[in-house]
Amino acid sequence: MKSCIKNLFLAVLFLLLYSELLALEPSERPRNVIVMIGDGMGVAHITAGRTFKGKLELENFKHMGLLLTHIPGEKYVGESAGGASAISCGVKTYYGIAVHPDGTAAESVMEVAQAAGKGTGVIVTCSITDATPAAFVAHVKSRKMEFEIAEQIATSKMDLLLGGGWGWFLPESKGGRRKDGKDLIGEMESGGFTFVKDEEAFRQLKAQPQRKILFLFAENHVGNAQSRRPSLKEKTAFALSMFEKGKNGFVLMIEGSQIDWAAHDNNSDQILLEMADFDDAVGVAIDFVKRNPETLLIVAADHETGGYALNDGSLENKTVVGKFTTAGHTGSMVPIFAMGVGADAFTGIYDNTMVGKKLLEMLKGKRGK
Ligand SMILES: [Zn+2]
Repeated sequence: MKSCIKNLFLAVLFLLLYSELLALEPSERPRNVIVMIGDGMGVAHITAGRTFKGKLELENFKHMGLLLTHIPGEKYVGESAGGASAISCGVKTYYGIAVHPDGTAAESVMEVAQAAGKGTGVIVTCSITDATPAAFVAHVKSRKMEFEIAEQIATSKMDLLLGGGWGWFLPESKGGRRKDGKDLIGEMESGGFTFVKDEEAFRQLKAQPQRKILFLFAENHVGNAQSRRPSLKEKTAFALSMFEKGKNGFVLMIEGSQIDWAAHDNNSDQILLEMADFDDAVGVAIDFVKRNPETLLIVAADHETGGYALNDGSLENKTVVGKFTTAGHTGSMVPIFAMGVGADAFTGIYDNTMVGKKLLEMLKGKRGK
């Protein structure tokens, strides 16, 4: 009997020590996580943005790395659904939204944050049903399943959704695209969301941030950098002021969605504008980290778009001579920048799925086994 008790004691001691080894130090566990994704943003896009702006907010980062975006055995060149799923869930997909290879749902940073009582939000400059935001909120086999993505967004536990795409949520009878007659915005309002669809209403809400907000500013995608109001910077400031008041911290994803589109269009001038708009929003996030040092801020890209290169330019005139090798994506590595709690974990060259894996570990407070 005595040796039995002794064995039990040793077993409990071993388990305690083992779990202690797996636990992350408090200094590696961020209370808040801000993930910013420049869609299609390679090193040339950043250089072009710097030439245009003179100096970038991105230059404040001390921890940087490079991400591999290939899909081994399947594709050399990736796309946004896979790139975003790697960051949101640590899984490798091509066209799949936050799913394992067998199609089952992969746990996302948003779901782990929600289970821990944290606020969660997504801000984009495209439709909220597009690939990158979807990878943080939904689980479907293909990024093309935007009606299903809208349904999953409507029943998700998100607190803030800000972008375009109300057409995917409303029936044709209310000016939307849905043929199933569902009014998902009505359902979300019944569930406690405040729905806002124009700039004026956004400005009125700004003074009194509140939980559960659905801002959808366009029927589908939001306008380009020179036409969209509020700017990505203003939307970011609103979200951070709302979440700053939360009890348990938050996870927020912010995407500069149209850097990718400008590169698909081989429109170098538009890349400058989209990069400047995105970098302004990065500046707001950096200011937040300075005020709230228990935050981790990551800025990354999902893949490179355009095979963009700067063949010439003028620092004095703030112009570049941009050339493209493709109207699609490329397999070049893309940069990642990190600041705040746990930032040093993101340096080096590694597969993009490691970003999601590291974020999940940090949010759970445990190292992966
Ligand atoms: Zn693209």
